[in-house]
Amino acid sequence: MSVRDVHVHFLHGHGGGYTRDFFEGFIAVAEKAGLDEIYLLEHTFQFREFESVYAPIREYNDYQRDWINRKMDGSIERYLEFLDSVKERFFSVKVNFGLEVCYIPETADKLAEILKEYRFDFLTGSVHWIDGWGFDHPNQKETWNGVDINKVYRRYYMIMCELCESGLFTGLAHPDSIKCFGHTPSGDMEAEYSRLAMLLNKHGMYAENSGGLRLNYDPALELGLNSQLLSVFKKHKVSLCSASDAHKQSDVGANIHELDEML
Ligand SMILES: [Zn+2]
Ligand SMILES: [Zn+2]
Repeated sequence: MSVRDVHVHFLHGHGGGYTRDFFEGFIAVAEKAGLDEIYLLEHTFQFREFESVYAPIREYNDYQRDWINRKMDGSIERYLEFLDSVKERFFSVKVNFGLEVCYIPETADKLAEILKEYRFDFLTGSVHWIDGWGFDHPNQKETWNGVDINKVYRRYYMIMCELCESGLFTGLAHPDSIKCFGHTPSGDMEAEYSRLAMLLNKHGMYAENSGGLRLNYDPALELGLNSQLLSVFKKHKVSLCSASDAHKQSDVGANIHELDEML
């Protein structure tokens, strides 16, 4: 079976733009990490074309407005031009090109309209915002103080189910990123997990077994899906793919072999 890393960030060539040299750096690291295939992507919040999707996020507070303004610093056209230039070439590692798309229920109609314009190999949907709140931002970690964790978890999974039902996506990114700061629910989430598993299957989507939180947040966090979610996904035979969520080129393929072992 081919070894894949289904979540690798391009990040505008880390400031250097979309160059052949930088792109080949991904291939070199992937090859060294023993990968046969990578899924390269950009966040939708990097592109001005998706501006209207993020209105509820900007309006939520000043920090988030400034954060989006800072991150949304490019046009998707540069990315597409680059994809066109490498699409027909052969590389020693198979490369799929896509987007990590924030699913925000309030603006899902706008998102669907915008996505219609583009063709990608894959679209990974992710939940980074709950009713406007950026729950995974280290700079607003304190906003977790006093929240009802069970309620937050249930809402997070409800949005994720809606994401699946939108039919816009091929995959689901980091399906338990809600644990990013170590908050775990006291209530049982089996029903939420089962519903999500069924919807993933219904829409022919894969779910990531992501090492991103350990890689990018806290080395003390568990690797990949929590054990209950993993066992529910396995019970329902959800298609599972390992993902590094590399934000640095040197992290391509990070933890992939260990993540694959879990599956
Ligand atoms: Zn993400
Ligand atoms: Zn990511």
